[in-house]
Amino acid sequence: MSKAIYSLPDNRKLKLCDDVLKMMFSYAQDHKKSPESGGILIGRILNCESHIVVDDASEPMKSDVQTRYRFIRKSVGHQEFFNEHWENSEGRCYYLGEWHTHPEANPTPSIIDKQEWGKLLYESIQDQNQLYFIIVGTKTLVIWYGERKVSGNTFLRIGSFNRNDIQN
Ligand SMILES: [Zn+2]
Repeated sequence: MSKAIYSLPDNRKLKLCDDVLKMMFSYAQDHKKSPESGGILIGRILNCESHIVVDDASEPMKSDVQTRYRFIRKSVGHQEFFNEHWENSEGRCYYLGEWHTHPEANPTPSIIDKQEWGKLLYESIQDQNQLYFIIVGTKTLVIWYGERKVSGNTFLRIGSFNRNDIQN
């Protein structure tokens, strides 16, 4: 059972599944030359109380740009990954946001990250103006809740997960 459960500002909960945590940490930038990696977050919104479960995420694709300090996701591959899920779940899955790695122990978003996140919120065609953003450091992973508002975007840090707490 995943310990990665976080409270959202509207009292709903967000859960990250074990397999997703494991996959993301498998790309942690442990070595001097490890490049940044990333992908999209996919999940479900539970019927009863609208809690959110992130139960899958895409991995870096060949067409993405991966350097030590930059990850640029191209839609090719990630879109197909999403479509496949969408079909398998009979349309009951959602694009929930993005993840990427940083070469630091406890990550914080760069100015470019926040600009990118803002763009994704703007482009997001969901009726809810919310997305989730994860940065995977070498020790902890941190999750931000992004909300699109008329007055500007807000990014709220909702929690973190320690790599040592992964269940094997
Ligand atoms: Zn970044």
